[in-house]
Amino acid sequence: MAKDYYDILGVSKTATGEELKKAYRKLAVKYHPDKNPDNKEAEEKFKQAAEAYSVLSDPEKRRRYDQFGHEGLKQNGFGSGFSGQGMSMDDIFSQFGSIFGDAFGGGFGSFFGGGAQQRNSGRGADLRVNLRLSMEDIYQGVKKQIKLTRFEVCHECQGAGGKGRRSCPVCHGSGEIRERVNSFFGQMISSKPCYQCQGQGVIVDQPCPACSGEGRVRREVTLPIDVPPGVQDGNYMTIRNEGHAGTRGAARGDLIVIFKESAHPVFTRSGEDVIISCLITWPQAVLGDEVEVPTLSGKVSFKINPGTEHGKIYRLRGKGMPHLHGGRHGDQLVQILIETPAHPDRNEKKLINELYQLYSDKKNIKIKKFTP
Ligand SMILES: [Zn+2]
Ligand SMILES: [Zn+2]
Repeated sequence: MAKDYYDILGVSKTATGEELKKAYRKLAVKYHPDKNPDNKEAEEKFKQAAEAYSVLSDPEKRRRYDQFGHEGLKQNGFGSGFSGQGMSMDDIFSQFGSIFGDAFGGGFGSFFGGGAQQRNSGRGADLRVNLRLSMEDIYQGVKKQIKLTRFEVCHECQGAGGKGRRSCPVCHGSGEIRERVNSFFGQMISSKPCYQCQGQGVIVDQPCPACSGEGRVRREVTLPIDVPPGVQDGNYMTIRNEGHAGTRGAARGDLIVIFKESAHPVFTRSGEDVIISCLITWPQAVLGDEVEVPTLSGKVSFKINPGTEHGKIYRLRGKGMPHLHGGRHGDQLVQILIETPAHPDRNEKKLINELYQLYSDKKNIKIKKFTP
């Protein structure tokens, strides 16, 4: 059973953004790995706090968490940056490094800034791509191929970076240089990335010429992306380990695919509902009729009642977008507009004139209050 995020941070369910940040900062300082070297329990607490904060500080994630609990963040890995796997130290430092910085007020900021870099050493960067989708794609769900240029492991050296790879003699392979520092919190261990190996822990005597010793090269790749039905503009999907390759065999970053919905020539989307306007003639409005309209699942006919007013909205149940997490569809709303013929022909003019004469005794217009 996962622990409640509010309990982890020790705040109430109504905590403001500022209160969350304060609570998180306090815990981050208390359980910071530089202050608790080789303490697994502190590390676990440090990670839990970061995860809780990353959810509660994001209004959309917080709303889903309040509504559905941990389950609300897990489904399909959507919107949640962790896909249920928890956060790595790299994630924490790259996302919240600036908060640790603030916590130490100026001079101490760089202290933890160093920590962040050291733990990022070598890991490939995350990659973000936008994926354009038509409303039809979103309705059905779609498999797309995306092309992107990213760092790939160098074929020449298999990511090793060259020959004569050995542990860095300065940091003894740890990638960091630690020293004791007297600070505001008492004596602490400060660590910086090693200057000799740039924090990688290894050095290479003969760098690979194909990648200049980096162990990776830029290349264009094509990836299949499985888009489920019902996504919304701005939703994103995190695909683990499909970002840039790391240097010299280090871990890959993640790929974040952001969905962009293209405007449709006919349909307007409002959440899971789809809206269209339908122009009918005045006789159709007066007498009623059966009309056919397009929907995302093909043509559908429905009855217009006699005496339908201009602007009336009909609701076609279940003809809208599917919900992202399965279950029912939204509706299609059809707004009825009565078309006024701008260029009636002779015959039409004659008949309309007759109607006009017929109505001449009730020609007095009615005034109604304006409703926008
Ligand atoms: Zn190489
Ligand atoms: Zn080193």
